Amino acid sequence: MTSSYPPAPDWSGAVTALRQAESVLLIAHVLPDADALGSSLALGMALRSLGKDVTVSVGDPGFTVPDSLNFLPGLDLVVPPEDVVIPDLVVVCDTSSPERLGVLAESVSAAPISVAIDHHPTFNGFGTIHVIDPESPATAALVLKLIDMLDVPLNREIASAIYAGLATDTGSFKFQSTTSETLRTAARLFDAGIPHSELARKLFDDEPFAALKVLGIALSRAVLVQGAVAGRGLVYTTVGCDDRGELPELAMERVIESIRRTHEAEVAAVFKQSDTGVWKGSLRSKTDINVGEIARSLGGGGHKFAAGYTGTTDVDQMVIDLIDALDRAAGA
Ligand code: AMP
Ligand code: MN
Ligand code: MN
Repeated sequence: MTSSYPPAPDWSGAVTALRQAESVLLIAHVLPDADALGSSLALGMALRSLGKDVTVSVGDPGFTVPDSLNFLPGLDLVVPPEDVVIPDLVVVCDTSSPERLGVLAESVSAAPISVAIDHHPTFNGFGTIHVIDPESPATAALVLKLIDMLDVPLNREIASAIYAGLATDTGSFKFQSTTSETLRTAARLFDAGIPHSELARKLFDDEPFAALKVLGIALSRAVLVQGAVAGRGLVYTTVGCDDRGELPELAMERVIESIRRTHEAEVAAVFKQSDTGVWKGSLRSKTDINVGEIARSLGGGGHKFAAGYTGTTDVDQMVIDLIDALDRAAGA
């Protein structure tokens, strides 16, 4: 990194804070993915083994663990945000800004010390101690380093939660962020006895039939805008509340994985309507378009090749604004 922001990870500050705290609340970002929740649970289990009073929560009102992540170990640590008590220390995992903490955003400022552990280049500096490394393929990899520094042995449960985050955020070790060190980390997790094949199936190859039917609807209405991104192509689709019926918002997270396979498009977008009616955009790029910067310009954030934002208009206007932003980024 040539830029001086984010600052170098404060490993020793974080380890000292974790050792000293008697009660710790770990928070993952709203609509948590396997990296956010897996990282929180892994560190939560490690801290519990050190005798600390640990809870894990997510700031979606009334949060309960989604079916798609209900196989993760350590879920007995999870409490709904309404039951959160301000602890000695708050640890925030995989979250680039306080808005992504939902109803728990205030808990971070209410705690005397707060550690942010994250790998988003768009991290905006909240919390008192920062362990931020945009080069890290997943927050889970940073959490494993902290667990090692705390001298907590890597058991099968902790390793499984770390694997969930690492495998998800690297797209099964396929994305550019995967390095030989990532694979050595994965080898350590295998050596700890994780059920890797079962975990991978549950993470990537297991969806309710109803979600596949919605995927079919989304794919059939996908649009290829060949002239967008200065001629390099945008493919997008939409999933409204009416399309998904009883299915939760999180059941739509995988639609982007199918859409982004489009050969003719450098950028893929899925617009998903949340339960409140607001539309959210998920963006993916393939080579050199930085969708993290584009999402940031549209009020969200993320990584170079994977990013997201929440819209402030109807979905038709969001498509127009996205095409404008992409053309500008591509120098059209
Ligand atoms: P998604 O498309 O929802 O899987 O998100 C892709 C990446 O963008 C993830 O790393 C998210 O953390 C990030 N991201 C998604 N939505 C937002 C948002 N509203 N604000 C900031 N970052 C976001
Ligand atoms: Mn995440
Ligand atoms: Mn992540």
